[in-house]
Amino acid sequence: MSVRINPDKCIACTTCVVHCPVAEATPKFLGPRMIGPAYERFRLLGLTEDPSLHYCANCKNCDISCPHGVPVSSLNMMARADQFKKHSPGLRDWVLGHGELMAKWLRLIPAAIKNFGMLNPVTRAVLDALGIDKRAPLPAFAPQTFRQLMQHVHQPDLKRSVVFYPGCYVDVYDPRTGLDMVWAMNRAGYKVIVPEELVCCGLPMVANGFWQHARSNAEHNLKALGQWRDAGLPVVTGCPSCALMFRVDLPEYFPDLAEKYGACRLADAQEFLLDAVDSGDLSVKADGKPTNLPDLKLIYHAPCHLRAQGNGLPGLELLRRLDGVTVENADAGCCGISGSYGFKKEKYDIAQTVGSELFDKIRKSGAQAAVSECGTCRVQITHGSGKFSLHPVSILRQRLEAR
Ligand code: SF4
Ligand code: SF4
Repeated sequence: MSVRINPDKCIACTTCVVHCPVAEATPKFLGPRMIGPAYERFRLLGLTEDPSLHYCANCKNCDISCPHGVPVSSLNMMARADQFKKHSPGLRDWVLGHGELMAKWLRLIPAAIKNFGMLNPVTRAVLDALGIDKRAPLPAFAPQTFRQLMQHVHQPDLKRSVVFYPGCYVDVYDPRTGLDMVWAMNRAGYKVIVPEELVCCGLPMVANGFWQHARSNAEHNLKALGQWRDAGLPVVTGCPSCALMFRVDLPEYFPDLAEKYGACRLADAQEFLLDAVDSGDLSVKADGKPTNLPDLKLIYHAPCHLRAQGNGLPGLELLRRLDGVTVENADAGCCGISGSYGFKKEKYDIAQTVGSELFDKIRKSGAQAAVSECGTCRVQITHGSGKFSLHPVSILRQRLEAR
């Protein structure tokens, strides 16, 4: 590891311990203060390696709460990467860290066969033996990826353009949300460019211990996005985890790359659309026109990786601008999934415990659907609460198309 974060800003106030959902859910995790800054001093001297480190979900709630700005989650991820230099991560972690690459390898196989092959009880038992819990809500492959579908989308001739970074989840499992985003951007007056050469932001690789792979993806993306940034085009994503990776984590993990290629702060697509509403570019009001849809009651979950950016909740605000829609903010903490954390056999029950307050609130809300920007949060919400869940931009499209 070339760069390490100085742990000495920590004053041991324990605020982060109170806000860590994993420390609350299981005694197996010693908590952010201990595993982060306290043990880092020993790790720098080569004196400790604690297995409890692997229970950190990289959810960032410690970073959000720390009054001294200690990036505890980054300390943990860097320490984990160091440990994995000595003990390589296993096959299970490789699979969970390289979802995009797996999808590329399997792209010639029809989705129905892939999904049958991956999700049938026999394969799930094999995956369970490998360490992916058989109860975990693994998402199904979409028949075509978002990028494949985009080749057939005819966008209107618009003067302004925006670059869209879909993220692996939208590309491989949830292209419908990506198409809804393109529709909304077109409606706001922007033609959408989806650069072919972009790859996974690297966050799943970091969380699963593949530090050098994450670095290589970061370099690839920074090179690819530089030309668009330099051309003055906005670059947006609807995925809070991808945005967090580019905005906060990459400069912290790989400062040399940030210096070499310049920062590339992906803008939050929901914030971008909210600005378009405020500037009058995107009309969301019915203006007396009747809508074909009945009123809608929703419950919103703010992903931890969105809250960690300190940028407000623009997806929620966007929903609140829509006629005939009422939205409750669940405000019930982490859903537990943290990317692929909640899929792991030794962590599945912890993730369900972490998300239980949110699931209860959603179940009791009386809402017709749950809404959240993060794809794996949506999978976990539906698994834990039984409630169908959508991205805010899909609700936006449904409501605006109906008039
Ligand atoms: S990391 Fe921050 S919140 Fe946690 S104990 Fe140290 S100073 Fe307090
Ligand atoms: S990232 Fe999340 S799980 Fe890890 S120490 Fe921080 S709050 Fe706890």
